[in-house]
Amino acid sequence: MNELISSIYNYCDRWCERCSFTDRCMVFQKEVERNIKHILNDEDPNDPDVFINDVAESLTEALQMLSEEMNKEGIELTEDNTPAPMETKDISHPLIDLAEAFFNGVRNCFSASSEEDEDVQDQIQVLYWYAPQILVKIKMVLFEKEKLADQTDEFLLEIGEEQKNVNARIAYVGMDKSLTSLQSLYARTEDEIKDKLLTLLATIKKLQENFVGEFPEVLTYKRPYFD
Ligand code: SF4
Repeated sequence: MNELISSIYNYCDRWCERCSFTDRCMVFQKEVERNIKHILNDEDPNDPDVFINDVAESLTEALQMLSEEMNKEGIELTEDNTPAPMETKDISHPLIDLAEAFFNGVRNCFSASSEEDEDVQDQIQVLYWYAPQILVKIKMVLFEKEKLADQTDEFLLEIGEEQKNVNARIAYVGMDKSLTSLQSLYARTEDEIKDKLLTLLATIKKLQENFVGEFPEVLTYKRPYFD
């Protein structure tokens, strides 16, 4: 196995099936170990008890990894400098409205599709993956931006800025991929859903344009390994 790349999982879109770094990622390795354990113990990963246990385990692992990274950097976690967990509740913003419209549009457009063409299925999967992720990431970066406006601690400011830039870039790249998939679908699919595809195209274009207006750094920020 290749050497693991420290913290690579902080920069990705979590679509492990399509990731070329699976053999160098601690998160993927832990996931594989968990799946093997389920098979050996004859456990159903969808069983609520098993599922809850998996979530608890992966949260503990995430905290361990964070703590190890901070130790390597010589940073001690104290009550004052521990980054607060990301909260996104109670945020309203036109970008969220657009992202919700896009997410709902994707769900409604393809739910009854019995399309068998592999490439078309592939493009639909791209939309199913990114539409919810774009919505979540937009909520996260809006919340982060609001929080950073009042931040005076240099350390937390630096961490928060980086987190915001990574999440914003993931959302932006997801919009780009969605746009490409929609264009490909529009050229290939039946007339009956072309109107819906046009609406989705208009929505994602407007969303991306407005998103760049709010977060222009997404055009220049580069994530390690992925951009
Ligand atoms: S880096 Fe790749 S393998 Fe690791 S969590 Fe992200 S998508 Fe999955």
